[in-house]
Amino acid sequence: MSDNLPFQNLNQLQQWHQGIKDANRNNIFCHCRVCSYEWMDSTFDATCIKCGSENVESISSWQFPDD
Ligand SMILES: [Zn+2]
Repeated sequence: MSDNLPFQNLNQLQQWHQGIKDANRNNIFCHCRVCSYEWMDSTFDATCIKCGSENVESISSWQFPDD
């Protein structure tokens, strides 16, 4: 049982880290210049998930004006 405990703690720690990563994820607005598809992604090097084009405009969501 004592061998199991550190592993479970590490697992919980990883889940906690994953939760933080998820919070920072998908906050980049992407717009495909080829097919005009729009989606939220987590990378500025996103490839269009609709048509596969790399001609994608990426805008960090904090750059949007509030009003
Ligand atoms: Zn596209």
